[in-house]
Amino acid sequence: MNFFIAPVEFSNVSVLHSIVKNISGIFKDKVSVISLPVNTAAAFSRDRGQYFSTQLIADAIKLTSGYDGKVLMLVEFDLFVPVFTYVFGEAQLNGKHSIVSVCRLHEEFYSGKTNDKLFIDRTIKEILHELGHNMGLIHCRSWDCVMHSSQGVEEIDIKGQFYCPDCMEILSNNGFKDSFVALPAD
Ligand SMILES: [Zn+2]
Ligand SMILES: [Zn+2]
Repeated sequence: MNFFIAPVEFSNVSVLHSIVKNISGIFKDKVSVISLPVNTAAAFSRDRGQYFSTQLIADAIKLTSGYDGKVLMLVEFDLFVPVFTYVFGEAQLNGKHSIVSVCRLHEEFYSGKTNDKLFIDRTIKEILHELGHNMGLIHCRSWDCVMHSSQGVEEIDIKGQFYCPDCMEILSNNGFKDSFVALPAD
């Protein structure tokens, strides 16, 4: 399965590099970074000061017919969907597109202290989580599973960093058995 990461207005090159390196170690197939000219201004809510993730995904759908595989947008700005105060990301169930925001994954957002390892770990978990939805997984009750839903960042930290055996079986049944080489590095 091809996996395309599309950084959108993503300024931190070293973070992007680190994320791609980590993700590349998990997937068997090549992970590619692509450029997508999504219309972010159209997704911005002036009232909320945030970007509407569903709108960004709708825009990405129009731009990615040429890509055969999963396409994940990676952004630094804060995302929302109307019923929630914020979201870490959004994905199409059994679809091609997803989006993850790193805005609220920075430890300094909470404690004021930088923790790069924690930040990258959280980002990888959320990428695998949204991608899991793309591959047909719904939320999992197991705290050991990356598909456990996270209302807050502390719940991202508690949950496991990969798919649990039950979710792996579903992935396998959905044709993604050979997509992964390894668990995320500790
Ligand atoms: Zn989810
Ligand atoms: Zn699971």
